[in-house]
Amino acid sequence: MLTVLWAARPDRWPAWEAPLERELAGLARIVHEAPEPEAIDAIIYAPNARFSDFSPYTRAGLVQSLWAGVERIVGNGTLTQPLARMVDPGLTDGMVEYCLGWAMRFHLGMDRYAQDGAWRNALIPPLARERRVTVLGAGALGAPVARRLAQVGFDTAVWSASGREVEGLTVIGGEKGLPEALGRAEILVTLLPDTPETRDLLDSHRLAMLPAGAAIVNPGRGTLIEDAALIAALDSGQVGHAVLDVFRTEPLPPGHAFWSHPRVFVTPHIAAETRPSSAAAVVAENLRRLRDGRPFLHLVDRTRGY
Ligand code: NAP
Repeated sequence: MLTVLWAARPDRWPAWEAPLERELAGLARIVHEAPEPEAIDAIIYAPNARFSDFSPYTRAGLVQSLWAGVERIVGNGTLTQPLARMVDPGLTDGMVEYCLGWAMRFHLGMDRYAQDGAWRNALIPPLARERRVTVLGAGALGAPVARRLAQVGFDTAVWSASGREVEGLTVIGGEKGLPEALGRAEILVTLLPDTPETRDLLDSHRLAMLPAGAAIVNPGRGTLIEDAALIAALDSGQVGHAVLDVFRTEPLPPGHAFWSHPRVFVTPHIAAETRPSSAAAVVAENLRRLRDGRPFLHLVDRTRGY
């Protein structure tokens, strides 16, 4: 039986208790304190917990994060244990629905038909197959989001660092492919991690590569887009609308220009949440792999930062 330390926030435990007890039966027992840290086999962690020193946990063979994003932990020098991030079917479904909903809103131009008394019956939206959408990022979230957009009919492409093939999707790869990926993006979805390479990726130069009036959906990370460049692009009409779920500072500070911009929609980092009902099985699978000495799922490559 493995001994696993709960190092996520205590107030999250009630939501996880029953799903984890169900999935870990006979495999692991969860403890909330570790008077003998060297007796701990694995750590369940979340970056918003008050837990930062992994060094006493000399026997721990796995740190399983409950979050998908790892930018707050990859640089932790005390973390020498393998780090797995959360890839949860429930979280993925949430992200797919969030991106699809906003893409449809911008595609159909729902905001053009506001209740202002104007009968704009010349504004007929194109069909999805006539609309080009690019998803930046082709990972655990970017790929399923792109697949669903393509199923709806959008002319969809994904862009990733490696450009590795993703079944059923048009992939554009690497730095050189970015102008092509952006140049086709009437709707742009950004699902990249926060790393030194992706920080400020969408600056004024890159935003100018988008088709005029493009819509941006950013549930990736706030650092991907330069705030001032985005505001300027919105003001000039280069960017038509932006829906932003993630920000450089969260909660988004009162008075930030995003709050009051008429073509910015702020959502409070709710695009996709880890769902204990499905994610507990993911935790259990990695603990089973620890017990059996098999390779872990969703390991983070700390040299790449994601
Ligand atoms: P992932 O599986 O690690 O995929 C990351 C993708 O980004 C990969 O396709 C990767 O390329 C690509 N990439 C990384 N660095 C790049 C670069 N410099 N240039 C071009 N492409 C690059 O991550 P994920 O699970 O899809 O999650 C993506 C992000 O979503 C997370 O990091 C997190 O920040 C965010 N997120 C937000 C919420 C929310 O509620 N708003 C919830 C969960 C996650 P390769 O394929 O070549 O490796």
